[in-house]
Amino acid sequence: AKAEGKNTYAFYQQHLTEKTIRYHELEADLKLAVQKNQLVLHYQPKVCINSNKVFSAEALIRWQHPKYGFISPLEFIPIAEASGDICEIGYWIAKQACTDFIKFKAQSEMSSIAINVSTKQLTDSGFIKKLNNIITEANCMPQWIELEQTESALMDSQRMHVNVMSQLRQCGYKLALDDFGTHYSSLSQLTNLPLHTLKIDKSFIDHCTDNKKAHMIVRTIIQLADNLGLQTIAEGVETSEQLDLLRSEGCVAYQGYYFSKPLPAEDFEKLLSAESAQ
Ligand code: C2E
Ligand code: CA
Ligand code: CA
Ligand code: CA
Repeated sequence: AKAEGKNTYAFYQQHLTEKTIRYHELEADLKLAVQKNQLVLHYQPKVCINSNKVFSAEALIRWQHPKYGFISPLEFIPIAEASGDICEIGYWIAKQACTDFIKFKAQSEMSSIAINVSTKQLTDSGFIKKLNNIITEANCMPQWIELEQTESALMDSQRMHVNVMSQLRQCGYKLALDDFGTHYSSLSQLTNLPLHTLKIDKSFIDHCTDNKKAHMIVRTIIQLADNLGLQTIAEGVETSEQLDLLRSEGCVAYQGYYFSKPLPAEDFEKLLSAESAQ
C-alpha cells in the first residue's frame, strides 16, 4: 500500500510538472501569437426571440497552436490575464471584430457586435482612448460595440472599474454583465454598474426545463432585469423546449447551439446572406 501511495504521488508530481511546463510554454508562445496570425475570432449569432433575426454576434477567440493544435480560451485567456498580455490581445480582438462587423453590417440589419473584456484590460492605462482610436480607425461607432464583462473579474478594486465603465457608457458603448448569477455578488453589482444588459448564465438555461428551481431563477432574473430597465439575453440555449420556456417568460434574446455554434467570419457572413435571402 505504501509503494502504491508513493507511485500515486510520483504520478501526481509528474502531472503537475507537465502542467507547469505547458503553462510556461503557452505563456511564451502567446506573446507571439498575434504576430504569427495564430489567433482568430469566431462569431456566435445573438438572436431576437420574437422575429428570429440576428441582431448581434459575440466574438469568441480561438488559438491555433503550432504544436498543441486548438487551445480553448478557457485555458489561455487566464494565462494572458496573469501575464498582462491580454491587453495587447484585447486590442487585436477589438480591431478584428470592428473590421469584421463593417462587413457584416453591409449585408444585414445587425445593430451591434459584442466583445469580451477582462478586468485587466479595463485597468490598462489609456484603455478608453486606445479603444476609441481603434473603433474610429475601423469606421465604427461606440454605439455598435457591446462590451461583455464577467462579474468574477469585477470583484476586485470595484471603484476603479465602476469609474471606467461609467466613462465607457458616456462614450456610447453598450455594457453587458456576462454569466449573471454565477457569483455571490451578482445583485450588488447591479446597483453599482452602469449596465445595459444582463446575460443569464448557461448553467441556469441548462436546467430550466427539467428543474423547477432553475426555471424560477430564470423567471426571476428576467423580471429583475425588467424592473431595473435592463435588457436580458439567455446564453447556451440548445433546445426548442428551452427557447419556448424563455419566450413564455418574456425573454427577448438568446444565443446558443440551437441557432448556431460560433462560426468563422466567412461562415457567419454566409449565414447572414442566407437569412437576408429569405
Ligand atoms: P463566455 O463569454 O461565457 O462564452 C460562451 C461560451 O459558451 C463560448 O465558449 C461558447 O462557444 C459556448 N457556447 C455558446 N453557446 C453554447 C451552447 O449552446 N452550448 C454549449 N455547450 N456551449 C455554448 P468558448 O468560445 O470556449 O469561450 C469560453 C470563455 O472564454 C468565454 O465564456 C469567455 O469567458 C472567454 N473568452 C472567449 N473569447 C474571449 C475573448 O475574445 N476575450 C476574452 N477576454 N475572453 C474570451
Ligand atoms: Ca461572453
Ligand atoms: Ca457568458
Ligand atoms: Ca457562461
